[in-house]
Amino acid sequence: MATETTTMKRLIGIYQPGSRHMVGDGFPVRNLFPSNDLDREVSPFLMLDHAGPQYFEPTDHPRGVGEHPHRGFETVTIVYEGLVAHRDSAGNAGVIGPGDVQWMTAASGIVHEELHEKEWAKNGGTLHAIQLWVNLPKASKMSAPGYQTILDADIPAIDLDGGAGRLRVIAGSFLGHKGPAHTFTPVELYDLQLKAGKLVVLALPEGHNTSIFVLRGLASVNGSEKAGEAELIVCTRNGSQVTIDAHENSRLLVMAGEPIEEPIARYGPFVMNTRAELMQAAQDYQAGKMGHLS
Ligand code: MN
Repeated sequence: MATETTTMKRLIGIYQPGSRHMVGDGFPVRNLFPSNDLDREVSPFLMLDHAGPQYFEPTDHPRGVGEHPHRGFETVTIVYEGLVAHRDSAGNAGVIGPGDVQWMTAASGIVHEELHEKEWAKNGGTLHAIQLWVNLPKASKMSAPGYQTILDADIPAIDLDGGAGRLRVIAGSFLGHKGPAHTFTPVELYDLQLKAGKLVVLALPEGHNTSIFVLRGLASVNGSEKAGEAELIVCTRNGSQVTIDAHENSRLLVMAGEPIEEPIARYGPFVMNTRAELMQAAQDYQAGKMGHLS
C-alpha cells in the first residue's frame, strides 16, 4: 500500500569504523561516530565506541580509564562480556556485567573513572562493550549530574513473534513495553538479538534519527545491502517503519531519537554549544569545580 511505502525509513548509508584506538589502557575501540561525520544524521547521539571483544590477561592492576572529566552530555555504557566498574565525583559508583547498562549524566560536570572490575581483572577475561554518548539540549547541559545503574533484570525483554529472537528495551518503548532509562529528550535504545532468516518490524517515531549497529552477524534494513560486524546502518529521520532482516544470527543495537537541532562544539571530554562554553568547561575542570574522586 502507498501509505506503507511513504512511512518506511530510507537508508542513508552503511558505515565502517572510522578509527581504531585504545581508550585508556583497557578499552580497545572501533569508533563509528563522530569519525564518520554523521553529527546531523545521528543526533541526539554524539559518539559510538565499540570496545572489543578482546581477551585481557590476568592482572593485579585493573586496566581502563583513570580520573577524567565530562560536561554537557551523558555517557551510556552497555556491557556484553566482562565487568566494568565506575566511580564518580558526585559519589556514585557501580559495577556492571553482561546485560547491564550504566547511564551516567555528566551535565554540568563530573570527574569519573571507568575500569575493569578488580576481581574480574585478576582472573582475566574477554571484554565486549559499547559506549554511546547522548547529547543534552542547551537547557539541560548545566543541570545536576546523575547516574542510573540499569541491571539486566530491570530491562524488559520481549520475545519476538515467530521465534525471531529477543528485543530488550533500554530506553523508549516497544509494543507498550517501556525501558527503564530516564532520558532528557526522547530516545529509543534497543538491544536486539535476531535469528538467521528472521525479521522484526519496528515502528519508530516519525522524525527520529535512526541507526542500527551490528555487533555480530549480518543484517539488512528495509531491503538494503547487508551490513556485517562493526558496521553501522544509518536511516533517514523521515519515515517510521524499519524492517530488520537477519541473514545470520545477529546482535544489533538500535539507536533512535529526536534530533537536537543546536550547534555542537566539542573538545575531548566536553560537548557544548559554543567555543566559549568549552573554554569555560576546561577552566572549571582545572579549578576543581567538577569535583574529585575521593
Ligand atoms: Mn568517561
